[in-house]
Amino acid sequence: MAKRTVKDLDVAGKRVICRVDFNVPRKDGVITNDNRIVQALPTINYLIENNAKVILMSHLGKIKTEEDKAKNNMDVVAKALAEKVNTKVVFSSVTRGEELENAVANMKDGEIVLVQNTRYEPGETKNDPELAKYWASLGDLFVEDAFGSVHRAHASTVGIASILPNALGFLVEKEVTMLGKAVDNPERPFVAIIGGAKVSDKIAVVDNLLKKADKVIIGGGMAYTFMKAMGGEIGTSLLEEDKVALAKEYLDKAGDKLVLPVDNVCADKFAADADIQVCESGKIPEGWMGLDIGPKTIELFEETLQGAKTVVWNGPMGVFEMEPFAKGTLAVCTAISELPGATTVIGGGDSAAAAIQLGFADKFSHISTGGGASLEYMEGKELPGIAVISDK
Ligand code: ADP
Ligand code: MG
Repeated sequence: MAKRTVKDLDVAGKRVICRVDFNVPRKDGVITNDNRIVQALPTINYLIENNAKVILMSHLGKIKTEEDKAKNNMDVVAKALAEKVNTKVVFSSVTRGEELENAVANMKDGEIVLVQNTRYEPGETKNDPELAKYWASLGDLFVEDAFGSVHRAHASTVGIASILPNALGFLVEKEVTMLGKAVDNPERPFVAIIGGAKVSDKIAVVDNLLKKADKVIIGGGMAYTFMKAMGGEIGTSLLEEDKVALAKEYLDKAGDKLVLPVDNVCADKFAADADIQVCESGKIPEGWMGLDIGPKTIELFEETLQGAKTVVWNGPMGVFEMEPFAKGTLAVCTAISELPGATTVIGGGDSAAAAIQLGFADKFSHISTGGGASLEYMEGKELPGIAVISDK
């Protein structure tokens, strides 16, 4: 059954608590990428235009110490947001108490109150019922639009939602539609590409995608654990020894569904100025490490992608942050973006960053805003922040 969305709520004159993902990257206190704020605007603008009193909540960074609080003060976001919306934005510098309650009480329809970083409250990440109840008392309705946080059962993502009448915002709706279309109801052939660094983070995704996709391409640092499982020499390439047995199990059951690199760009150290040679898979000399897929592998992956109607990509093909090892990721990015009429989805923080850095931001059907959340979706896990929202 489809979930209720913000359009199913009567928001006029109501205090609407909207959980957004304003967890933006910053350097020296300056926002370096405001994409997450931009992605939240459709829901915020809808609420403003429909005369809601909009109470926005988000976390920002991790809070362990008082120092972390100063570093992750939501005030920078309040300023950035105020420049992007056509209404008054009041910032509450606290997460509870008189300042916040007065700000909400004094709101007019169509105005915004942005609440301080939800993680100032230790109860936030514990989904503390008392905290959820207090926050819920500030609003009449709840809208879930923080896709990057829906895989976490926190007070602001699940707690409030379980008390107030609720709905999904447009961003979460779009993410679920696009990821769902790709993973659960794909037009075939469906090719999944998994790369990146940590096998342990992604092995569950490989398992689920092997059930759903027609081909599963493995590249990046992930590939070497599989090469090792095939009995190959991998030199000093990335290896998760305790995942070799599982990799072997997947190789045995997947047959030719699993597509692995046949050659690799190898380096004598993890550095941009390393000596480089191309090595066949399974024949990487001692002291050398595979840091990108090789030219024959690029061809193989391009062939595998030919004719695909659905592509899901998570994890870069090499250490794309260093120019000598960016070719594989660039080639795969290019190949995916040139597929005619295909639904193409990137999920994964670094893959999305790579695609944007390489100039492919507009060339995919969808770039997910939630790394962890999109991974868990692709693993087939239930996302608590979505599960809690009522059906239509
Ligand atoms: P995502 O965030 O897209 O899910 P990951 O976090 O799993 O991706 O992995 C991204 C990282 O993997 C990048 O920093 C990249 O440098 C690294 N990586 C890719 N290929 C290799 C490799 N062969 N060896 C070591 N690291 C790699
Ligand atoms: Mg990552």
